[in-house]
Amino acid sequence: MGSKWVYAFGGGTAEGEGRQKALLGGKGAGLAEMSRLGIPVPPGFTITTEACIAYQRGAKSHPDGLREEVAEHLARLEELQGRRFGDPSDPLLVSVRSGGPVSMPGMMDTVLNLGLSRRSVEALTAAGADARWVRDAYRRLLTMYGDVVMGVEHREFERILGAARSEQAAENDAELTAESLERVIERFEALIAEHAGRPFPQDPQEQLWGGIRAVFDSWDNKRARDYRRLHGLPDDMGTGVNVQAMVFGNRGGDCATGVAFTRSPATGAKGLYGEYLVNAQGEDVVAGTRTPKPIGGDDGRGGMRDEYGEATARLEEVCRTLEAHYREMQDVEFTIEHGELYMLQTRTGKRTGPAAVRIAVEMVDEGLIDPKTALARVEPLHLEQMLAPDFDLAEKQKAVEEGRLLAKGLPAGPGAASGRIALEADRAAEMAAQSDKLGPVLLVREETSPEDIVGMHASVGILTSRGGMTSHAAVVARGMGKPCIVGAGAIAVDESAGEVRVAGKTLREGDWLSIDGTAGEVIEGRLAPHDSEVLQALGGAIEESPMSTAFRRVLDWADAERRLAVRANADTPDDARRAREFGAQGIGLCRTEHMFFEEDRIQWVRRMILASGAEERRKPLAELLPVQQADFEGIFEAMDGLPVTIRLLDPPLHEFLPHGEKALAELAREMGIEPAAVADKAEALRETNPMLGHRGCRLGVTAPEIYDMQAEAIVRAACARRRAGGDPVPEIMVPLVGTPEELRVIRERIAAVLERVQAEEGVEIEALIGTMIEVPRAALVAGEIAAHADFFSFGTNDLTQMTYGFSRDDAGSFLPAYIEQGVLPGDPFASLDEAGVGALVTMACEKGRAANGHLHVGVCGEHGGDPRSVAFFHQAGLDYVSCSPFRVPIARLAAARAALGVEGPEDV
Ligand code: PEP
Ligand code: MG
Repeated sequence: MGSKWVYAFGGGTAEGEGRQKALLGGKGAGLAEMSRLGIPVPPGFTITTEACIAYQRGAKSHPDGLREEVAEHLARLEELQGRRFGDPSDPLLVSVRSGGPVSMPGMMDTVLNLGLSRRSVEALTAAGADARWVRDAYRRLLTMYGDVVMGVEHREFERILGAARSEQAAENDAELTAESLERVIERFEALIAEHAGRPFPQDPQEQLWGGIRAVFDSWDNKRARDYRRLHGLPDDMGTGVNVQAMVFGNRGGDCATGVAFTRSPATGAKGLYGEYLVNAQGEDVVAGTRTPKPIGGDDGRGGMRDEYGEATARLEEVCRTLEAHYREMQDVEFTIEHGELYMLQTRTGKRTGPAAVRIAVEMVDEGLIDPKTALARVEPLHLEQMLAPDFDLAEKQKAVEEGRLLAKGLPAGPGAASGRIALEADRAAEMAAQSDKLGPVLLVREETSPEDIVGMHASVGILTSRGGMTSHAAVVARGMGKPCIVGAGAIAVDESAGEVRVAGKTLREGDWLSIDGTAGEVIEGRLAPHDSEVLQALGGAIEESPMSTAFRRVLDWADAERRLAVRANADTPDDARRAREFGAQGIGLCRTEHMFFEEDRIQWVRRMILASGAEERRKPLAELLPVQQADFEGIFEAMDGLPVTIRLLDPPLHEFLPHGEKALAELAREMGIEPAAVADKAEALRETNPMLGHRGCRLGVTAPEIYDMQAEAIVRAACARRRAGGDPVPEIMVPLVGTPEELRVIRERIAAVLERVQAEEGVEIEALIGTMIEVPRAALVAGEIAAHADFFSFGTNDLTQMTYGFSRDDAGSFLPAYIEQGVLPGDPFASLDEAGVGALVTMACEKGRAANGHLHVGVCGEHGGDPRSVAFFHQAGLDYVSCSPFRVPIARLAAARAALGVEGPEDV
């Protein structure tokens, strides 16, 4: 069909280049780009993602021309390396690795040392090659090929290897002698023949094509599909296959293999940061089965520099070249063969939230990137992680003194988490489904594998007893932004006995355990996580730190770029103050009913509800007025000079009454009312469908004196603040409007109250009067409603509920199944349904503005703090979003990224 399926790299040139990630996959593109930069890369070729897709679509048969192209490129490789693939006496050996356009750590498969056979093992040994090395390479080929291509369980190979270590009394695999390995090989071959029903193929061509086919197939295996589903990635990207000449990190004491980041992925500190293993192959590091040594980065340990001075200096130089070229922190894999450095991979490094922010800010200071690029690189999730909780130092100290510090491990993912132990991923998911009863879940395992992804997602933190900073658990937890500790070697995880043994204690599934992923400490029992360093610095509780400064600078850049204003949903002066520290430009929603539940006022609220008419309601309303006024004064003070949108009473009245006969009788007794009268009133207020019942502005129509009282409290509070020298900016908001007439009638009454109170107080207050748009009908007739409104605020919680006809309170019984089965892409209450609810928002906005040129428009539903929804509101032309105080920084960044047209994470 004229397609080119294969692209060569290495030997100082490449047919492809770095920007062809979609075609070559991330690994292939990185190898091509490094080759072009003159960085030492073992040569090879990449089979394109298009070939993988063609294979998948063609009922798993190779597309036309692929075999011929692979043969041509193999011939070129043989020429470059001066060795022939399949030559028994001195064969060219290759690796086959997968690599999709988006990195999916540990999700797909790799086979090393292809091209070896029984015959070549003998011939190489006879020709003088190191007998131990040749056998070590062959047993690795048998393991990987047996597992990946022939479907023999990895742990069967591990079992045989473990037995060989015991027989020889060897501490680790590197100590196994050639003789021991010879026995291992025999047992491996027998194992494969028995389990796979056919022997390991001795023909190198058969091996190569088996490897290629396995990588193609791995694109479609369950764990890869699960990963894509969790990360919202499409299924039709395909993976590249990289066939590359082998270099050996396991060829003796002057050989090593490792992984490195150009800056610390945990803290962002500059300097080479990573791990290496002497006399090992790459998979040993990533698999986490041997705990590697630190290269010696920001902690000043000089490990690798001392052992391999020249290669380390070369690695540092390569990393500088790569950072300067990509202008981004890189995550590289390398091998040292007899002191010579080879690069096997480079890609954008995953990092924690704090590291992302620090790296972005420092790269701006270093002149590598500009602030706009920094904003594209810092994701809302990163800021969220910086605000993630810590444990209280004193409480932790106390736990340590009580002997509850059980173990220490590597701090792989920062933040504090406390939860009930689950020893299996499936159990973690099951327990998390009952977290409202059980509390959060902490996943504790020896090590994790891609099969554990769903359980890792369900847990608040992850703890493993094995593995290093780049093990599966560490990489995945960091990506998810979860606290994580790995390599806590003192812990024995006994999955079959359902227990964890550590420091002479035995913990069982369901017991509480706490981890401090920043310090790497495992603590027995439950500790309460508390505010992070950045959070405390923002609140002035502690001094500014480098992290809080970086956090502020990113948000300052965001503020310079964004068009959307960001307000907060806050009901108390404390929340308002916190929101302001986070940069809120006002309050977009103050839910007045939350104030009604407080101890000193609920009884007056109840008397107001139980009153049989306006007259009887007068007394309780008069009692409530000053307390409401005091609440508003506190909020106006905290938000001085900034708008405060106060919503008039919204929920159905019966929500304020106690439930059950006994409680109602008790209430009657307290209030000195006949129990029968209370019961009758409660019965009269009972509704079949309260969410669609007597609530919102319907209360304003039927019991207008309640809204009168609230309007009066707002204006009196504003007058008092003004007299005290403040600058209150009140906005009065009417909920649940569906017809223009509702708003007209209520607005008229509010305006009358405003006029009366201002005259009495002798103070002039300008108060906007507006409405929520949260009933679909309001969106449909928004033009007419706008004639009576100074502002609209979209209540997307109710608007989602009523547009879908999904009860906000009951959707939990079917939404998970909808999402699981792909009926819905996600939870529409969390991220706005753009096609439906979003269309109503856009339409109402247009109609409203056309009818009223001064109309101010915002959103105050939960979606106001969801980055994807914020991008939509930016597009729709809203004036502001309003969200919980904690999410204000996230919304500020999301609004800036939307203004800059950044879509998702810059590099997933
Ligand atoms: C809404 O419906 O979106 C809203 C903000 O109001 P509440 O959540 O209080 O119903
Ligand atoms: Mg609502």
